[in-house]
Amino acid sequence: MTAAPVCLGRRAGRRCYPWAMNTPTLQARSSVLVGFDADDTLWKSEDYYRAAEKTFQSIVGEYIDITNPQTAGHLLAVERRNLGIYGYGAKGMTLSMLEAAIEMTSGRISTADISRILQLGHDTLRHPVDLLDGVREAVAAIATEHPVVLITKGDLFHQESKIKRAGLQDILPRIEIVSEKDPATYARVLAEFAVPMERFVMIGNSLRSDAEPVLALGGWAVHMPYAMTWAHEQEHGVAADHPRLRHVSCAAQWPQTVAAISALIEEGAHA
Ligand SMILES: [Mg+2]
Repeated sequence: MTAAPVCLGRRAGRRCYPWAMNTPTLQARSSVLVGFDADDTLWKSEDYYRAAEKTFQSIVGEYIDITNPQTAGHLLAVERRNLGIYGYGAKGMTLSMLEAAIEMTSGRISTADISRILQLGHDTLRHPVDLLDGVREAVAAIATEHPVVLITKGDLFHQESKIKRAGLQDILPRIEIVSEKDPATYARVLAEFAVPMERFVMIGNSLRSDAEPVLALGGWAVHMPYAMTWAHEQEHGVAADHPRLRHVSCAAQWPQTVAAISALIEEGAHA
């Protein structure tokens, strides 16, 4: 008998991705849920944002001295103050770039250069989706043993487009696009899966977003650093030797790391 698709986590106005019809249900597999971050964990992202920032600086640098440290940090300051209005993602970055450019040039920026900044936003939204080495195989291996979910911040439309272009829907049918990765968000997602926090493992590149809130709630985290990290994500209070935190350097290490954590969880549950 084929199990009916389980549509967990549906909320008004949010996209719900049911389990594929041939995917075992939560009860049929390990009850350790594995979450994956997307940007700079599954695919390259920060590279494109950094390239856009570099071009932004060269545009604004035609008007002012961009090497002045106060000036150089202005875009980040604008992005941070706008996070609560625009949220994360390339569209918010584009609006913040426009705002910062107008402020930094005291309104002298030309409409031609405003157009160049808008084009930067377009280019960032259309950047190619390059999966990191071994990601597809690692996610597929974990998904045969555990229920899995993608939990990512950012613009809904852009993230959905990247997930589609990455072609991962078959092995990652459950996707949560959230506005912030904080304890409240993780608690909500886990409640929707009816999985206790101590049976949750989150894999991601950001200690601030993928590890700190999960560890604070009693879950497990696997940190895989990316070559570059946005300044906002570099601030965190995670101890490198936290007992429920593991460090890996490539996706090929995910399955064995999750298996080891899963064994510890089961040991603890039966102790
Ligand atoms: Mg990330």
